[in-house]
Amino acid sequence: MRNIEMVDLKSQYQKIKPDIDKGIQEVLDNASFIAGKQVQEFAVDLGKYAGVKNVIPCANGTDALQIAMMALDLQPGDEVITPSFTYFATVEVIALLKCIPVFVDVNAETFTIDVTEIEKAISPKTKVIVPVHLYGQAANMEPILALAAKHKIAVVEDNAQAIGGEYTFSNGDTFKNGSMALISTTSFFPSKNLGCYGDGGAIFTNNDELALKLKMIANHGQRIKYYHDLIGCNSRLDTLQAAILRVKLKHLDSYCNARRTVANFYDKAFANHPKIKTPFRASYAKHVYHQYTLILSDNVDREAMINSLKEKGIPTMLYYPLACHKQKAFEKGARIVGDLKNTEWLSPRVLSLPIHTEMDEEQLNYIASSVLEFLK
Ligand SMILES: *Cc1c(COP(=O)(O)O)cnc(C)c1O
Repeated sequence: MRNIEMVDLKSQYQKIKPDIDKGIQEVLDNASFIAGKQVQEFAVDLGKYAGVKNVIPCANGTDALQIAMMALDLQPGDEVITPSFTYFATVEVIALLKCIPVFVDVNAETFTIDVTEIEKAISPKTKVIVPVHLYGQAANMEPILALAAKHKIAVVEDNAQAIGGEYTFSNGDTFKNGSMALISTTSFFPSKNLGCYGDGGAIFTNNDELALKLKMIANHGQRIKYYHDLIGCNSRLDTLQAAILRVKLKHLDSYCNARRTVANFYDKAFANHPKIKTPFRASYAKHVYHQYTLILSDNVDREAMINSLKEKGIPTMLYYPLACHKQKAFEKGARIVGDLKNTEWLSPRVLSLPIHTEMDEEQLNYIASSVLEFLK
């Protein structure tokens, strides 16, 4: 049996090697490492794919979030509502801009931000809501967008984990994740669903005026070279990464399907098990399983399970072992709404199993039987 890994980028590369190598070679031949034509070509391709008018590539998913917040002219002390149950980067950029992260709870089934908690968190200082499409499933965008519109608050979708996924509104309209909010952000970190071979990220918006501003902020606040209208930053997607992403974007749908096949296998293997809960499938979302995350019941010793699987050559991960509101960095400077009981309940109970585009039946059978064996 092939080695089991959380992600298998080597095998994935082998399958698309000729196209990737050709794309890289073209960049090398032209030596256009910064702002080569592939960067804009990729932005256009991705915009078409996602159904968004403007895509602004940048250096990584964290920068994408920061640039998005900068474009919204946040002032020190302004509040940004975010789930605590997310990757640190979502929240870090809020604090970096001297704004106040307002932590709210997630729904215990979907792992995504709880809309009723958002409502409780809104204050006169609230400027932005950041739903995170955690593990590959969209947050419940319809009520979030309605609430934000009612209070005139901007929404920024953190779509680092769910590119390729979809959300269906109650009228039947379906949108790609990353195309619903005023601004959306994503990451091309190698292990993400659309990953490059280094760092990369992008910002999405349908608002042309905002797109121009986002582009300027990502480029030292300049529209005309050496004339700086704004304070910005230096955040670019390398041409090499854009060339790689152009190739990989063509495979994104099949990559999402491969992940769903793995999730279907696990769902079936673990169906109705008394000791583990498989990921909830929200009726409004097309899940793209960036992670396959189980909830363990109270009588399962998570450490022992991790070690038992590790001994059998099966890696697992905790996303995330410590919620953001419990991080030392947020001892001060954040506001917590309610008791975050679902976040606190989930953190010690989640466990993510290997899921990626290159898994075979033999590996899946072995993982499933090892998990079931431990839980006996
Ligand atoms: C990966 C990730 C980011 C940050 O992306 P980088 O490219 O690593 O900076 C932000 N938010 C979430 C939810 C992520 O998973």
